[in-house]
Amino acid sequence: MMKIIKCAFCGGTGKDPFDLLSPISHCLVCNGTGSIELAEPVKKCVFCSGSGKNPLGARVTCIVCGGKGCNTIESNMACQQCNGKGKSSDGLPCTRCGGKGLN
Ligand SMILES: [Zn+2]
Ligand SMILES: [Zn+2]
Ligand SMILES: [Zn+2]
Repeated sequence: MMKIIKCAFCGGTGKDPFDLLSPISHCLVCNGTGSIELAEPVKKCVFCSGSGKNPLGARVTCIVCGGKGCNTIESNMACQQCNGKGKSSDGLPCTRCGGKGLN
């Protein structure tokens, strides 16, 4: 089953939120369409809190969800290493769950 979600990185506008390439550049995450197809079960990306942006501050896509703001995660078990936060103490993605918070 596929689910259509709004692109988190550009907020559904289809435009590059940071104008990195040129003023007319389109969002690389959704290819300018503003929406993304993801396989179910879709869960909000805990690493970027669903924003699709890298929480480490760089103006790039979240390294866990790739800018989608959601991930396909089968499990409902919170990761015991990061307590479901998806982050290690250094702010990097948890090595056990890969930043998804569930495993
Ligand atoms: Zn987009
Ligand atoms: Zn993310
Ligand atoms: Zn974890």
